[in-house]
Amino acid sequence: MAGDAPRKTTIDELTSGAVAAPEAAASRRPASGDEALIACDRLVRIYSTAGIEVQALQGLDLLIARGELTALVGASGSGKSTLLNILAGLDKPTAGQARVAGHDLLTLDGRERLAYRRSTVGFLWQQASRNLLAHLTAAENIMLPMRLAGVGRAERRRRAGELLGLLGIGHTADRLPAQMSGGERQRDALGVALANGPAVLLADEPTGELDSETAGEVFAAIRRANAQLGVTVLVVTHDPAVSAHVRRTVAIRDGRIATEVLRREQTDASGEVAYVAQEYAVLDRAGRMQIPRDFIESLGLAERVRLTLEPDHLAVWPDRPAGHDGERR
Ligand code: ADP
Ligand code: MG
Repeated sequence: MAGDAPRKTTIDELTSGAVAAPEAAASRRPASGDEALIACDRLVRIYSTAGIEVQALQGLDLLIARGELTALVGASGSGKSTLLNILAGLDKPTAGQARVAGHDLLTLDGRERLAYRRSTVGFLWQQASRNLLAHLTAAENIMLPMRLAGVGRAERRRRAGELLGLLGIGHTADRLPAQMSGGERQRDALGVALANGPAVLLADEPTGELDSETAGEVFAAIRRANAQLGVTVLVVTHDPAVSAHVRRTVAIRDGRIATEVLRREQTDASGEVAYVAQEYAVLDRAGRMQIPRDFIESLGLAERVRLTLEPDHLAVWPDRPAGHDGERR
């Protein structure tokens, strides 16, 4: 049975309300790695191929609370897929720490790693075909991971039906992938990722190959899984329509989390709900932070800056000779 992993939540527990509402969880910030469902501490991944070293992750810190839905954004090559592959248990970091739902990803042995990938995390790829077998129907594809985890036939059927309904593709249960639309296929792939009731759903540009309307349907299904199953979601996306509608967006730059945008829902006097966004720079444990590139350029900051401590904030000054304010050297 798949239900014996520590801190893992089953679909049944979730639907019976035995688990705290994800909304409540999302509003709490984990104060330490012990409280977080996902905790990365100074994570490093160096690829060495043909004598050339690429530092894909350069001491990345990240805490994600149970029940959060977080978007991960960043330029191509910034390390997004590297991070997701490590969290998925598909790749090992070179140094640092990564814990997910009580599992230390650096010390998992082969058997534990397999169980972790089968039951603790679900992965949704950009191409639905990586989650789906072409000769199985939508329902059979979702039942397959449950069968591998030892779930009985009747229970497999019941849960597959429940997931297809939740994802809005109940009508495709008996269709092969080739008989479904792109959006239906991707939602079926999402069902496969959720089949064993994972604590964490990782999605790497899941709407990257879809038109905007279909992308919206797939993202709505991801959102429903987060809200109704309580699964913690980390989704890589280039789609501003997605990142604008999540509470938290983290931006990765050169293998580190550089900035974060938090959005709060605010209801005005007339009852209209709007999102208020605030952007933050992220301070790592060593006190380092990245200054946004446009700030650097607009003040011409380079090499050295002067820091002055004010009662309630810190000021950063370009390094120019005293008495020559405003004049470039
Ligand atoms: P992203 O998903 O943000 O586009 P990746 O995590 O795929 O970025 O890649 C980060 C960096 O690591 C890039 O410079 C990429 O070329 C390099 N990289 C990724 N995978 C490998 C690999 N298997 N071997 C060597 N270099 C890699
Ligand atoms: Mg990538």
